Amino acid sequence: MIPLNSTSFLLGLRCFSKRISNDSSRRHLPGSVKLCAGQLMRWCSRTSNTTKEHDNSSLVLKHLMAKIKSTGPISVAEYMREVLTNPVTGYYYHRDALGAQGDFITSPEISQIFGELLGIWCVSEWMAAGKPKAFHLVELGPGRGTLASDVLRVFNQLGSVLRACEISVHLVEVSPKLSETQARLLTEGENCRMHDPTAAVYKTGVTKTGLPISWYKDLQDVPNGFAFYLAHEFFDVLPIHKFQKTKQGWREILIDIDPQTPGKLRFVLAPSATFASKTLIQRDDERDHVEICAEAGVIIHRLAGRITEDGGAALIADYGHNGTKTDTFRGFRGHQLHDVLTAPGTADLTADVDFRYLRQMTRGKVTTLGPISQREFLKNMGIDVRLQVLMKNTSDPIARRNLIEAYDMIMNPEKMGNRFKFFALLPQSRVISQEAKLEKRNSTASPIAGFSELQL
Ligand code: SAH
Repeated sequence: MIPLNSTSFLLGLRCFSKRISNDSSRRHLPGSVKLCAGQLMRWCSRTSNTTKEHDNSSLVLKHLMAKIKSTGPISVAEYMREVLTNPVTGYYYHRDALGAQGDFITSPEISQIFGELLGIWCVSEWMAAGKPKAFHLVELGPGRGTLASDVLRVFNQLGSVLRACEISVHLVEVSPKLSETQARLLTEGENCRMHDPTAAVYKTGVTKTGLPISWYKDLQDVPNGFAFYLAHEFFDVLPIHKFQKTKQGWREILIDIDPQTPGKLRFVLAPSATFASKTLIQRDDERDHVEICAEAGVIIHRLAGRITEDGGAALIADYGHNGTKTDTFRGFRGHQLHDVLTAPGTADLTADVDFRYLRQMTRGKVTTLGPISQREFLKNMGIDVRLQVLMKNTSDPIARRNLIEAYDMIMNPEKMGNRFKFFALLPQSRVISQEAKLEKRNSTASPIAGFSELQL
C-alpha cells in the first residue's frame, strides 16, 4: 500500500475530482424545481389524484380495515409496511415516484456531484484498506439507480486506479417497478435477465461499464465479501413503532378504525404494554414520545457484522437526529405535508432516522462516524473543487445556472444542507490506525474522507 498523508490524500481527492468526467450535462434541474421550507425533503412535482390512485387507496384502506376488524388495532410499523411495501398495493411497489417528474426528488437526482463524491469516498476507503483485490458495491433502496450510476461512472473513470480490482454491483430493492428503472439506467437492456421473482437473486445483468450486477429483496441474500454499502433516503422509509410515555408507563401508539367517522382511521393508545413497548424502549430515555425502527436496527446490526468479518464500510445519508426528536412521522403528497392516515397508498410515509439508535444497534462491533451534516460531509469531500471544474468546462449559461442551483439545493443549510446527515460504519481497525497516526505520527493510515477536515 502506498502511504498517504493528509496532504497527498487531499491532493488525491482533488485529482480524482479533476479526472472524473467534465460533463455537466448528465442531467439538470428542471426550471420549476423550487423548495419551500415545509417541503424540503420530499418535493412533489404534481398532484397524483388520479382515478387509478383513488382506486388503489380504497383498496389499501379496505385491506387495512379488514385487518383491524379481524385482529384489532395495528402498530404504526405494520401500517407503514402495508402502505409502502405491500406486494399488491404498496406505494413503492408499482410506481416510480422519484425525480423531477415524480412525487419527490432526492440529492442524487438533483446533482450528479453528489453521487460522484460518494464514488470517490468508496475509492479512498478502498485505498485506505490496502486496495483489496475485489469489492462489492451494495446499495440499499437505489430508487431510480441514479446514485449507483454516478458512482459507477467514477469507478470507470478511475479505471487506472481500480484496474486490478474485481468489482461487482448488488442492489437491494423491493420494488419491481423501480428495479426495472434501475436496470434501464445501469445496464444495456439485452444484458439483463429476469429470474423467478421470488428467488433470492431476482435479476442479474452486466452494467454499461461491464460489471456484473444483481438484484435482491433482502440484504441477507447479498454474497459476503469486502463491500461498500450505500443507503441514501432508505432508512427513513422503514417502518417505525411509536410510543408515548404515560403515568402507567410506556404505551405503544396503534392505528384503529375511527368509530365516529366511517372509512376513517385514527391513532389510539394501547391499553397495556405491547411486545414492542416491552422490548424496544430503553428505560433511561428522557423523551415522552419516541419512534423506534426495529427493522433499521436489524439491518445495521447485519451491516456491522459483515463489515467486521469481511471488511469494507457503510455510508448512510438521510434526514435524522441523534436521539433527540420525538414525533417525526409524516406523509408527503402533491407539494404538501399529507395526513398520514388519509388516503393511504397515495402519499410517501417517512420518519426521521434516529442515528443514536443505529449506533447502539452496531453493538460496538464497528466504529461509527457522524452524524454530520450533508453540507459538512460534501465540503470535506471537495464539492467546491468539483463544482469549479464543471463550471470551468461549460460556457452554456443554462448549464451553469443549473449547476449552481443544484449545488445550492443540496448544500444550503436552509434547504438540504443541514437537515440531511451522513453517518458511517467502519471496521474498528480503520479508526484505530488513524488515531495512532494522529497520536504517534507513525501510522500510514489516511484520514477518513468526508468526516475529517482535510487541510493542505
Ligand atoms: N436512494 C434513492 C431512493 C430513495 S426512496 C434516492 O435517494 O434517490 C426509497 C427506496 O427504498 C426506493 O427504491 C424503495 O423502493 C426502496 N425500499 C423501500 N423499502 C424497502 C425495503 N424494505 N427493502 C429494500 N428497498 C426498499
